[in-house]
Amino acid sequence: MEDVEGSGPWYAAGLQFACSRCGKCCTGAPGFVWVTVEEMERLAERLRLSFPEFTRQYVRQVGDRYSLIEKPNYDCIFWESGSGCTVYEDRPVQCRTWPFWPAHLESPAAWGRTQEFCPGARGGPVISLEEVEAQARRAAIAFEE
Ligand code: SF4
Ligand code: SF4
Repeated sequence: MEDVEGSGPWYAAGLQFACSRCGKCCTGAPGFVWVTVEEMERLAERLRLSFPEFTRQYVRQVGDRYSLIEKPNYDCIFWESGSGCTVYEDRPVQCRTWPFWPAHLESPAAWGRTQEFCPGARGGPVISLEEVEAQARRAAIAFEE
């Protein structure tokens, strides 16, 4: 993500973002919301379910990883129109770090595509380079786990 002159990434001045809670990143096309064991434990506790019961109701295994399940229309199982994410305070890192995922930061064009999708990435307060990179690092770990 460094530029050719080594003066930092193209987003060195930070990036604007303010989530409008439109829900586009929680709904729509099929996808994966990866969850770690710790995240599943926290969600199970929030929902007052045992760990096995939580995973039975809300999680699918994909290879050696775990993802939240989706509704039949592919919305995240925890998305409710009208109220939004029903587990917001305990949402997984993948959700917390959107839209500052490494793939979105690869180039201005990649960020432009993210902005087309996510209205929150088209304005709002400037998120500093340090914070953007911290989020991207957390997201990268979440995708690798
Ligand atoms: S698509 Fe963007 S603005 Fe909409 S809920 Fe997701 S992060 Fe927020
Ligand atoms: S857990 Fe919440 S923030 Fe994450 S995709 Fe589902 S509804 Fe969206």
